[in-house]
Amino acid sequence: MSDPGTTGAPANPKPPMALLAELTYRCPLACPYCSNPTEMTGRKAELTVEQWADVFGQAAALGVLQVHISGGEPASRRDLEEITQAAVEAGLYTNLITSGVGLTAKRLKALDAAGLDHVQLSIQGVDAAAADEIGNYRGGFERKMAVAGWVREIGFPLTLNAVMHRRNLDRLEETIALAVELGARRLEVACVQFHGWATLNRGGLMPTREQAVRARDTVAAARERLRGVLVIDFVPPDYYARYPKACMGGWGSVGLNVTPDGQVLPCHAAASIEGMSFERVQDRGLKEIWRDSAAFNAFRGDAWMQEPCRSCERKTLDRGGCRCQAMAIAGDAAATDPTCSKSPHNAALRAAAEADAVSGAALIYRESPA
Ligand code: SF4
Ligand code: SF4
Repeated sequence: MSDPGTTGAPANPKPPMALLAELTYRCPLACPYCSNPTEMTGRKAELTVEQWADVFGQAAALGVLQVHISGGEPASRRDLEEITQAAVEAGLYTNLITSGVGLTAKRLKALDAAGLDHVQLSIQGVDAAAADEIGNYRGGFERKMAVAGWVREIGFPLTLNAVMHRRNLDRLEETIALAVELGARRLEVACVQFHGWATLNRGGLMPTREQAVRARDTVAAARERLRGVLVIDFVPPDYYARYPKACMGGWGSVGLNVTPDGQVLPCHAAASIEGMSFERVQDRGLKEIWRDSAAFNAFRGDAWMQEPCRSCERKTLDRGGCRCQAMAIAGDAAATDPTCSKSPHNAALRAAAEADAVSGAALIYRESPA
């Protein structure tokens, strides 16, 4: 195969479209697949409303169009309404990503008054027993159902986010039916990505190959059946795919993430890459960090790629996959994503996934910082 050529990091990268604003790592739930880091900063280190307002203003000036207000559980912050209003005033489209726990009808009305555009509600299961086991929070499912009702009454567009794994993939049809029943316009069926706390729970959560195949077929049939009713996004399990996906649409290409204490990351798991340091909004402008920082430029273009990515015809499609997964499994963030069938680590990864899928490992629950 001929070398398709390489390019270095562009001097003036295109502006990002989306900002993930992680307001806090605090959360009343304890999902064992939480993508938050296992070492988390607490309340005292969190950015203030004024600091977030400044970040949103800088993001809008940089070209960002939408902000995903997330966490942890963003409703754990009593000033969520003020932070949301600051994002609206900066001209950003606002999407609240929430477990629902901590929201009330009154708070949702206040968020509506603040200008919130969209709600994305996570569900951990299709009934109280299943959901509350994963969230490790009794009553969580009932609270979510109430939140979905208030969201509908107020008229927010609703997306349901369902993280799927070995323990709930066989209930995918019921998950889709629940999304329709709750009046969601969109359902994200996201098979668990093994970052953060999920890396501790591979044995407890890894789906089987058969589940992965059935999930793909179930989603395809439901998309056909529910055309015009429900849009279904599907993130298949990486470990059984032939090629990786373009993680984050490409490192430093489409979006950026600001952590509760102000670190600016190219993706929410990037802090797991050993030896890489990230700048903070307290120390440098967002535009300069996006354009000039060593971390954001580390994996732009393709000059950083190793073989087999460097000479691969798919490199402009998937950009070599996920850097955090390369770090976690191959021990080198510049390596080919080990979930790619061309990676020298792929056979071992698949064997480990098959073994994890039949493991009876108990769940390790996420902890919340003070
Ligand atoms: S994944 Fe679960 S534990 Fe993590 S922030 Fe979301 S609701 Fe909380
Ligand atoms: S070798 Fe690299 S560029 Fe080619 S498909 Fe695999 S991850 Fe993508």
